[in-house]
Amino acid sequence: MRMTTTLPIDALHAVFGERLETDALLAPFTSARIGGPADALITAHSAEELAKTVSRLWEMSVPFILLGGGSNLLVSDKGVRGVVVLNRAKAVQFTDEARPRVWAESGAVFSNLSNRVAARGYTGLEWAATVPGTVGGAVYGNAGAFGGDMAGSLRYADVLTRQGREQLTAAQMGYGYRTSVMKRGELEGVILAAELRLDFGEKESVLARMREITEQRKSTQPPGASMGSMFKNPEGNYAGRLLEEAGLKGAHIGNAVISPVHANFFVSNGETNAADVKALIDLAQETVKEKFGVQLELEIELVGEW
Ligand SMILES: Cc1cc2nc3c(=O)[nH]c(=O)nc-3n(C[C@H](O)[C@H](O)[C@H](O)COP(=O)(O)OP(=O)(O)OC[C@H]3O[C@@H](n4cnc5c(N)ncnc54)[C@H](O)[C@@H]3O)c2cc1C
Repeated sequence: MRMTTTLPIDALHAVFGERLETDALLAPFTSARIGGPADALITAHSAEELAKTVSRLWEMSVPFILLGGGSNLLVSDKGVRGVVVLNRAKAVQFTDEARPRVWAESGAVFSNLSNRVAARGYTGLEWAATVPGTVGGAVYGNAGAFGGDMAGSLRYADVLTRQGREQLTAAQMGYGYRTSVMKRGELEGVILAAELRLDFGEKESVLARMREITEQRKSTQPPGASMGSMFKNPEGNYAGRLLEEAGLKGAHIGNAVISPVHANFFVSNGETNAADVKALIDLAQETVKEKFGVQLELEIELVGEW
């Protein structure tokens, strides 16, 4: 049963006015198209608006979570008891002095940014051509693909914490494989923007590399709604291989299916609820543990009231 909200809705309305939407369904804001309602949703359209919104919520002691592209999380069917801040801050600025770089607000769509970089004939972000989600989500989770990752691209991230604003380098972000100080919960904050390093390149070869990456992705990963890789690759192994060898390709609970194309992708066969995906996650973890003694760790985050 869904709990009733404990949020000070009237006070929030007084502060955020029409920007506050109550009982907002979250499924449309996720790549898997799954998830119940948030008690309240506030959209930020610039880094400044994002900073002000988060500061006010901290002052009011109102719990919130930040949603970028919703491509690395599973929202529960009961939804979120608190505020969801939807990040749509998308401004982008290029600097092409001695060495080019790009500064982007954290709600910029990362794959679009990769395309804009390529269109200018710069190299450095080809790896991000097919990574869904926002720049902020990629900075938070150290997104990576095809030999590149955020740890290698980030000059600094503009981060807002309760103490104020600071610029954190990749070293200060404490990056590891798909993790950071923020993802590990060691630093509470919100990424407002990021500056990424680029190089002068040759436009045609940059575009050719991006086409190659896109083709490779299409031939190895399933199309359609998903959350990307469900589990992190365990040290020296691949989660997809373990799931496949455990005979789990094609396994399903309700409409949630372990993809027959790539076992580390969970896809939907029609309208799917989060409880079925969670039950399939549990089944996959139990089966792999039983057969190979390996505890698979989630790459995605479970969000909301379970
Ligand atoms: C089909 C598919 C393929 C994928 N392939 C890859 C891949 O190749 N490599 C890879 O690394 N990932 C991949 N992913 C996962 C996903 O694209 C990345 O993790 C992405 O960086 C998440 O960004 P997002 O904006 O969607 O984050 P969300 O899912 O919205 O959020 C994820 C977490 O980041 C936090 N967060 C988001 N923005 C901010 C911010 N501005 N400040 C603070 N915290 C923030 C959220 O609160 C949440 O905890 C794939 C996903 C899909 C669906």
